[in-house]
Amino acid sequence: MVSKIRKCSCGRYTLKEVCPVCAGETMHSRPARFSLEDRYGKYRRMAKKTLL
Ligand SMILES: [Zn+2]
Repeated sequence: MVSKIRKCSCGRYTLKEVCPVCAGETMHSRPARFSLEDRYGKYRRMAKKTLL
């Protein structure tokens, strides 16, 4: 499950890609890259087990 909550550099949390307060670009509140890699690694390990 991916969180849709994003955070602006001004500290505001929003669901939009552009901050409604300062019009700045928002980012995912969590480092999606790390969680995605972790998730893929988990699936890779599971797939390996299944194939063997
Ligand atoms: Zn902002």
